[in-house]
Amino acid sequence: MHFVNAKGIITKSGWHYGMNIYRGCSHGCIYCDSRSRCYQFTHLFEDIEVKQNAPELLEKALKSKRQKCMIGTGSMSDPYMHCEEELGLTRKCLEIIKRYGFGVAIQTKSDRILRDIDLLDEINRSAKCVVQMTLTTWDDELCGILEPNVCNTKRRIEVLEEMQKRDIPTVVWLTPILPFINDTEDNITAILNECVRVRVKGIIDFGMGLTLRDGDREYYYAALDKHFPGLKERYIKRYGNAYELPSPKAGELTEIFQRICKENGIMSNPEDCFRFMNNLPEKYQQISIWDI
Ligand code: SF4
Repeated sequence: MHFVNAKGIITKSGWHYGMNIYRGCSHGCIYCDSRSRCYQFTHLFEDIEVKQNAPELLEKALKSKRQKCMIGTGSMSDPYMHCEEELGLTRKCLEIIKRYGFGVAIQTKSDRILRDIDLLDEINRSAKCVVQMTLTTWDDELCGILEPNVCNTKRRIEVLEEMQKRDIPTVVWLTPILPFINDTEDNITAILNECVRVRVKGIIDFGMGLTLRDGDREYYYAALDKHFPGLKERYIKRYGNAYELPSPKAGELTEIFQRICKENGIMSNPEDCFRFMNNLPEKYQQISIWDI
């Protein structure tokens, strides 16, 4: 990893902010979109760029904001990578978010988030906190191939359960669903049943498939060659160079997904999920003493 002093840490997007403390990721997911060439990495994806002044930048930015809102983090780089254990920058930023009365929507695959559950709980009581987890496969062995450097789905479900015990709302990303790999009824049903059990608020699915771009595609195909010999050729034949690679079973899997969500009152429309994650209720938007 290497350290930089960033110029800014939050970006405005509609009524909420986005924040990435780290750039690059050590979790090694074989399908990771963040490693695509369009993001213009000038260093190895695994050589994590640490924005060491993130807490100072965040405090400066939030101090000057009169209107509270949600701050999203984790979309481009997991905030609970291995290095967070020693650096603690995510925790420091959460402390600042709490101090200034903002809300947070945090996305991870790691059980390291449990270290900060006290803080997430406090943010949820004073404003709003939403924890987002990605779940792709119920099969532990497959999980070790798809997402090799992070805890498995069963452990992530335990994390969701801990959040539920504290009434911290959760949203699951049921994505990507990889053609001919995790796109089985059994897999989708097993994950969804657990989502029901731990009462997740919403599940985001983008049509039961995968997207691939330059950079990401090469990495994914190399992993297919290593773990699923012959599958790359099958992909190329079926999808060519397409950006969107829907599972051949997308229709039936989507039906199962929609049915289980509807029967259990779980939000299944991505727009509804994003609206929920990005909106801070009006009563929390007021000016606090920190603005005076
Ligand atoms: S956790 Fe997210 S950012 Fe990290 S490698 Fe996996 S998909 Fe990429």
